[in-house]
Amino acid sequence: MRYLLGLVLILALAAGGVFFFAGRMPGPSIQITKPVKYVGQSTTVEVAITAPQAKLSDFSVAFEQNGKQTPLASLAQPGNAEIKQDGADVVRVTRTFTRNDVPDLKSGPARIVVTATRPVLYDLRKTTTSAAQDVQVRLERPQIAVLSSKHYVNLGGSEMVVYKATPPDVESGIMVGDIKYPGYPASGAKMEGVNITDPAVKIAFIALRWDQDVNTPMYAYARDEAGNSARADFDRLTFPKPFKKSRIPLDDKFLERVVPAILDTTTEVNPQGTTLQKFLVLNGELRKKNAEKIASYVAQSAPEILLGGAVFHPFTNTAVEAAFADQRTYIYNGEEVDRQTHLGFDLAKVVNSPIVAANRGKVVHASPLGIYGNCVILDHGMGVQSLYAHLSSFSVKVGDTVEKEQELGRSGMTGLAGGDHLHFTMLVNGQMVNPVEWWDAHWIQDRIIRKLREASGS
Ligand SMILES: [Zn+2]
Repeated sequence: MRYLLGLVLILALAAGGVFFFAGRMPGPSIQITKPVKYVGQSTTVEVAITAPQAKLSDFSVAFEQNGKQTPLASLAQPGNAEIKQDGADVVRVTRTFTRNDVPDLKSGPARIVVTATRPVLYDLRKTTTSAAQDVQVRLERPQIAVLSSKHYVNLGGSEMVVYKATPPDVESGIMVGDIKYPGYPASGAKMEGVNITDPAVKIAFIALRWDQDVNTPMYAYARDEAGNSARADFDRLTFPKPFKKSRIPLDDKFLERVVPAILDTTTEVNPQGTTLQKFLVLNGELRKKNAEKIASYVAQSAPEILLGGAVFHPFTNTAVEAAFADQRTYIYNGEEVDRQTHLGFDLAKVVNSPIVAANRGKVVHASPLGIYGNCVILDHGMGVQSLYAHLSSFSVKVGDTVEKEQELGRSGMTGLAGGDHLHFTMLVNGQMVNPVEWWDAHWIQDRIIRKLREASGS
């Protein structure tokens, strides 16, 4: 009998111990992934709660400021929150809140507080975890106003906008459709006697892509880290431009010369089949990959204008063999086999003629680049760059600063080139644009210098 009592006592103690320790088992783990630092006019809170089999008996997300808590979401009252299971063990809670949800919201410090509870010991007990994220509330919207006037944009062409965005550290730029053109501090435009010192004044070079609608919406925007944003319209006229159509005959001699030579320089595509089939992969897929690579160099653009003289070297005394945005149809054995748009100028002189820098700049690329063959890309600052393709040799290397009209290399027929010529294009924030404008002294004066002078008040 005594043994039996002893056994019952031991079992009772053991059960009590299990019950006690179950309550001390780890609660769900909580990660507040958003907001990282700022709360603005509208803020999204994102929380990931991890528990075995994503089993939760409760959770709550709240905003806390000056000792007052405002519930944002809980398991019982999800409100506008989105609750989703992600994988076996994770529950994701997403809730966007505004001033209407937190009427006393004020600029200053605050916290996001999350608690989560999971059942343990066959739902007999519960275990809870809490987490908090310190945030800063910023409710003041940034301000933006465009200072420059009379913007004229040709389809496939460029423009420049001067604007003022405050506070000066706010992210800002110009949107053209869904393409963003970042602004650079105007203090970096020390040219032609221009000297703008206000840190809130910015310059953005923009482009209307050859394939965008001529009525594409454009506006200046500013956006702070709390997600508060502002936008401003600017006066402008846009002009359509008819692009030429041309036919490019392909023959086996040309294909046998260019296709294996390009494939030797790239691992980005690995086409199979006939030489024509391989050519079509180079002309389509590789052309696209090359354009992405070319666009990526804008990340290295200098924040100041590097130009030595405003007008770009116009490559006179050359025969123009093809113009910007020519619509090319490729013909093989009398049949149409491909269509592409030619985004540059083809300029021919004599074989191996010296190719010079169109303006002062820094070499960001000087090596084979797919269909462009031996290719040099120069950075002129603030997202403006120029490209020189099909060279036979280089006389510069990456990192070199070159003066306007300094030799970059010799012309050639590397890449997709039917004969010795220079393929030249201008780039604005990675978009290929019509170089004709940049060769035109009147355009440079009116589009760039006039606006800079007006903004600096001289
Ligand atoms: Zn070309």
